[in-house]
Amino acid sequence: MQIQYVSKYIALSKEGLFPELKCPMDQGPLFPNQDNEDQVFLYCLSCDYKKVLGTKDYNDIVKAVENAG
Ligand SMILES: [Zn+2]
Repeated sequence: MQIQYVSKYIALSKEGLFPELKCPMDQGPLFPNQDNEDQVFLYCLSCDYKKVLGTKDYNDIVKAVENAG
């Protein structure tokens, strides 16, 4: 997985192109990061929420970013 796509998706969502990715616990913004197994995950700064992106979610993000570019 490439974190760049997820960062780009989040940047574009802030411009209103996509629905923003929000924490389901407190509706805070989610930030992308990558673990040492190359898995991209999203995390919330204000609570301990963390979500590893599944292949389908990741592919949807890649497609959305490519279509936007
Ligand atoms: Zn949260």
